[in-house]
Amino acid sequence: MFGVLRKKPVDKLVEVLGKKKVNISLVERKLYSYDATPIPLQRAMPSAVVFPESHEDVVRLVEVCYEEEVPIFPRGAGSGLTGGAVPTLEKGIVVSFERMNRFQVDVDNATAEVEPGVITAEFQEYVESLGLFYPPDPSSFKYSTIGGNIAENAGGPRCLKYGVTREYVLGLTAVIKEGKVIKTGNPVIKDVAGYDLTKLFVGSEGTLGLITSATLKLIPKPRARATALALFNRLEDVGRAVTKIFTSGIFPSALEFMDEDAIRAVEDFKPVGLPKVKALLLIEVDGSPSSVKEDISRVEELLRSMGVEVRTASSKEEEEKLWSARKSLGPALGNLKSGKINEDIVIPRIYLSEAIPKFREIAKKYDLLMVIFGHIGDGNLHVNLLYDKANREEEERAERAVDEVFELSLKYKGSITGEHGVGLTKKKFLKWQFGEAGYELLRGIKLLFDPKNLFNPGKVVEV
Ligand SMILES: Cc1cc2nc3c(=O)[nH]c(=O)nc-3n(C[C@H](O)[C@H](O)[C@H](O)COP(=O)(O)OP(=O)(O)OC[C@H]3O[C@@H](n4cnc5c(N)ncnc54)[C@H](O)[C@@H]3O)c2cc1C
Repeated sequence: MFGVLRKKPVDKLVEVLGKKKVNISLVERKLYSYDATPIPLQRAMPSAVVFPESHEDVVRLVEVCYEEEVPIFPRGAGSGLTGGAVPTLEKGIVVSFERMNRFQVDVDNATAEVEPGVITAEFQEYVESLGLFYPPDPSSFKYSTIGGNIAENAGGPRCLKYGVTREYVLGLTAVIKEGKVIKTGNPVIKDVAGYDLTKLFVGSEGTLGLITSATLKLIPKPRARATALALFNRLEDVGRAVTKIFTSGIFPSALEFMDEDAIRAVEDFKPVGLPKVKALLLIEVDGSPSSVKEDISRVEELLRSMGVEVRTASSKEEEEKLWSARKSLGPALGNLKSGKINEDIVIPRIYLSEAIPKFREIAKKYDLLMVIFGHIGDGNLHVNLLYDKANREEEERAERAVDEVFELSLKYKGSITGEHGVGLTKKKFLKWQFGEAGYELLRGIKLLFDPKNLFNPGKVVEV
């Protein structure tokens, strides 16, 4: 007796979804096995790249994968920096949400129903044309997707005042184990029924299931904005200035910090005329035209009373030039050294002036170039350790230094990540942050949604 030949899982996927949605070409599989993480990762070529076009497609593909025990690696635009979208098992498939890119805005309710593959900037531009505002602004907003932003709980400079992605997700539709569908939340601000599954799903990095739709909260678009640049000759004054602004009744919409090496890197890469100082702050305020005028003058006054030089952008072009300096920092660092470990630690603002020199001591101990910049208003700093990719010994020193950067952040009651998530690269450190009992709970939650460990296996928590 001959046994019946079993259909391969990929053939089953083709059968339920159709050929056009399942790509098995070598080129495509290779292309979709990377994300933007700048360090080498454990990665595998997936057996197929699947492009669902609807919620129903996602249900069908999860049903097949759960039955056939095929690992699923969800993907937005692949701009993640911790390997979240990278496939790590050859029998797995990548699920790219790029064809699920529709959205609908309810202007009267100030909410929107958004598919995961919508590009964040395109959504923001559209809602702003209606007088509404979706604030989360990761620097990757021009190409990253709403699904990826939700899965990473992304944030950016404006999150100081407006909060991170999680604050804007009112509800989700997601496909979990065996193709089951969960609907969480509602298009309302107040909803306290049961455990908050929406908030649990946001930031879960594709490990609990696949998001097929999100209900997003929109707020009124601020009518005006202004930006000031503050120049510091002493690092210690930066923390004092931030406190002074915060206790003066002004809530800046962004408060960005660059140290002297970051300033030098930008000026060497794309000069905007920043002077040689120990540190600078970019301060943005928004609101009504009259409140903006008043707030920015007050900021100038406060800083000048501390002996700090302040310049205010007098035109839209000047403002854009200042922000382009901050936004070109990533590529500018690539000019200094070929390799970069960019960590996004957070510590309470009050400890920043004490902690920044300690981060510098770590760099000195390992004889490395360290550049620090970031969102000082919320204590979220990008600590960059630079090394030469051809020099393995220097790279190893950078890896050892990173351990100490995280240790120090946790000592100051902070977190190992404020923006980029855990993914593959920070798994080890998550245990440090959560402790044994907390980590066990994370594992339990993961297995409740995904008992076969098929959703983004190997990311965030070890099962
Ligand atoms: C130049 C640059 C600047 C950046 N700046 C910032 C910043 O300022 N702030 C910040 O927070 N981050 C920043 N990031 C990192 C950030 O994580 C991403 O840019 C963004 O949030 C990821 O979106 P994406 O669409 O590219 O998702 P991907 O990278 O493709 O995926 C990210 C994670 O989401 C999961 N995922 C994607 N879609 C779904 C879905 N539908 N269901 C379930 N899981 C899903 C993936 O499995 C993965 O774990 C930056 C990245 C780059 C390259």
